Amino acid sequence: MRELLILEPVVKNYIWGNEYWTVSAHPHGDDIVTQGTYRGKHLSELWKEHRELFGNIEGESFPLLVKKIDSRDDLSIQVHPDNDYAFAHENGSYGKTECWYVIDAKPDGTIIIGHNAKTKEELREMIRDGRWKELLREFPVKKGDFFQIEPGTVHAIKNHTVIMEIQQNSDITYRLYDYDRVKDGKPRPLHIEKSIDVINVPHRECRTNAGDDPNRLVSCEYYTVDKYEINGSREFLQDKPFEIVSVIGGSGTIDGTSIKEGDSLIVPFAYGKYVLSGELSVLISSV
Ligand code: ZN
Repeated sequence: MRELLILEPVVKNYIWGNEYWTVSAHPHGDDIVTQGTYRGKHLSELWKEHRELFGNIEGESFPLLVKKIDSRDDLSIQVHPDNDYAFAHENGSYGKTECWYVIDAKPDGTIIIGHNAKTKEELREMIRDGRWKELLREFPVKKGDFFQIEPGTVHAIKNHTVIMEIQQNSDITYRLYDYDRVKDGKPRPLHIEKSIDVINVPHRECRTNAGDDPNRLVSCEYYTVDKYEINGSREFLQDKPFEIVSVIGGSGTIDGTSIKEGDSLIVPFAYGKYVLSGELSVLISSV
């Protein structure tokens, strides 16, 4: 179809900042098409009733979820299950593999990925004794960094970081530590046992692109993400079931429709060629 799917992001306000679910068919935030033939429809409805827009691929629900995350404060230390664990323990939900492109970070910003425990027993002890500094791997982060976060990987974004996140369509998160914060007099629930169940011990590094395509950031079982810098105009060919274009810097147009940093939209099946113009950086995600 020669029509872009432009969506209204669902906005989530949390104690630590905001999330903009820019491409989502998840029941916790199901985006609505803002213009064109399918105006007013939820993305989940298009997935059910117009699967041809997505190349008639199989699946219970739309496979990806794209979010822009803007943190004022530190996010909780968390971990996600894989598909097998989530199917078994979370009413048949999907697990979550995700990746992050850092749109902005403060000059001395840091990020947490991984841990230092060598055995499950050591992990359990360090958690019990609150030895977080010793347990967690924290390192500097800057604009333009890219991270793949596999299930079982302990992770957290710290304060004043803006990221574009592409992930499996899942909202299953196990919170391991929340900096002992309280909201309305109560701490948010933790999921220590499930976290210990799913955390990879010892920590496993997540691989991003090591291949020879300079535009490829990652390609895994669930998604492929490429990055392009546009200065002027560039033509692309949409030959996948669908593509998601997410703007990670600057502004411009896609086939005449204005787009700017933080926006995402879907280029449906059989769309053919499209042109990105302006001064902008984009991620192009597909399954
Ligand atoms: Zn996560």
